[in-house]
Amino acid sequence: MTSDPGVRALLPPLLAPAPDRPGPRDGAPLGDGPAPPFRGEALAPDPAAMRRVCGHFTTGVTVVTAVADEGWIGATVNSFTSVSLDPALVLFCLRHDSRLLTAIRTCGQFAVSILAAGQGPVAMDFAAKGLPSFDGLACLTGATGAPVLRDGVGYLECKLADEYPGGDHRIVVGAVTALGLLGDGAAAGPGGPLTFYRGRLARLDKECER
Ligand SMILES: Cc1cc2nc3c(=O)[nH]c(=O)nc-3n(C[C@H](O)[C@H](O)[C@H](O)COP(=O)(O)OP(=O)(O)OC[C@H]3O[C@@H](n4cnc5c(N)ncnc54)[C@H](O)[C@@H]3O)c2cc1C
Repeated sequence: MTSDPGVRALLPPLLAPAPDRPGPRDGAPLGDGPAPPFRGEALAPDPAAMRRVCGHFTTGVTVVTAVADEGWIGATVNSFTSVSLDPALVLFCLRHDSRLLTAIRTCGQFAVSILAAGQGPVAMDFAAKGLPSFDGLACLTGATGAPVLRDGVGYLECKLADEYPGGDHRIVVGAVTALGLLGDGAAAGPGGPLTFYRGRLARLDKECER
């Protein structure tokens, strides 16, 4: 947490703080001894730096789907996360000009499929420009009518609960109406879930020791 003055003192004085806002430059070293030297690279918060640094935050990969006027629609989404357990809420972020977002607003619901490690090609197909094709994909449908990818690890069906501005994206919050695991618990198998790290699809190697 950069709001912790003890941590702020360790950041390098490379980024000019906004005039009305204290920044790393203002942080006086705290503690008894000198702060350890900074090792790394401090970057200005531009899109390239955001991609570079946030790309180190490893995520799972989902395909979010909905029913559009023209039929099923979906997109690969790694900004998915759970928000609240009770009530059950999730969120993800979509570009403001997204056709999937338009469909979700119209039908008021969507489904999330959590992808398995073997579904890299599916992730790339649903990230490509143009409307994705569901041909040849094994799908299930539930109450939302949106397809769930049967070869995924798990799924959630949601009602659109809220939508918030988020810069060049919109933050979509869903109230979970149904959810489950798929297959024989693929996440626990050797393949595990599909992951996204530094712009590349990957699979988990092994769990860390606790
Ligand atoms: C691992 C991974 C994770 C991702 N996570 C996210 C995420 O969390 N959030 C996110 O928003 N995206 C994410 N993406 C990108 C996303 O999957 C793709 O951009 C996908 O096409 C979005 O579909 P859409 O329906 O939301 O947007 P689309 O409506 O398909 O729009 C996507 C882009 O295409 C343009 N476009 C729209 N229609 C056309 C057309 N007819 N011809 C040409 N261009 C057009 C739009 O202006 C926009 O720039 C991710 C991609 C990958 C690989």
